[in-house]
Amino acid sequence: MTRGLLIVISGASGTGKGTVCKKLLADLPEVAYSISATTRTPRPGEVDGREYYFLSVEEFKTWIAEEKFLEYANVYGNFYGTPLNKIEERLNRGEDILLEIDVQGALNVKEKCPDGIYIFLLPPSLDELKRRIEGRGTENPESLARRLKNAVAEIKIGLQYDYVVVNDTIDNATAQIKTILAAERLKVARNTDKFDFEGGF
Ligand code: ADP
Ligand code: 5GP
Repeated sequence: MTRGLLIVISGASGTGKGTVCKKLLADLPEVAYSISATTRTPRPGEVDGREYYFLSVEEFKTWIAEEKFLEYANVYGNFYGTPLNKIEERLNRGEDILLEIDVQGALNVKEKCPDGIYIFLLPPSLDELKRRIEGRGTENPESLARRLKNAVAEIKIGLQYDYVVVNDTIDNATAQIKTILAAERLKVARNTDKFDFEGGF
């Protein structure tokens, strides 16, 4: 059985990770989304258990104590974490799993799971990044300023990823990520079972 792909996507807030991941998941039904837990308040339209598991700080700390996270981090003053949720077993069963997480979390996962695929999404420019966050209309001025201030430092960490994709249009970015996944599926290291010709003629 070929092990599934652990796909990790990060990028500065407002780059379009959520939008691109949604399209990717719609186009690739074999990929399962890992729903994170967070202590931030839900945005209009977000549903508990769909976009995130929305937890209180106390609940989040209980999950930490119970070792329920593969990784967690404090991002913009709120906790975010990837529930373990049998990720390892699911990968071993051949499931592909997509994590959309911040750079701190991704670097932690990279240490634990070096065979993951680490993709960094870039905005076409900082001006466009600002337009996108403002256009989303979800941040108050303070939160907007904090996200923009962090963006440049976060983008530098992208140099430690395996792949970079510029989210100019959603279609281009999604197509490029699909290309990455297609190539990764063909790696020898992921297909050693196909080399068993020992039986001979
Ligand atoms: P993130 O998850 O990275 O914080 P979102 O997916 O919420 O970002 O996208 C931020 C805003 O930018 C949303 O309003 C979204 O509709 C818009 N957006 C995303 N990708 C693009 C794109 N390629 N071109 C124009 N607008 C985009
Ligand atoms: P947002 O509040 O815009 O949904 O997400 C803010 C940031 O938290 C984004 O960079 C997003 O990738 C990150 N994030 C979401 N879930 C997780 C998670 O489980 N772990 C970590 N480390 N970051 C996360």
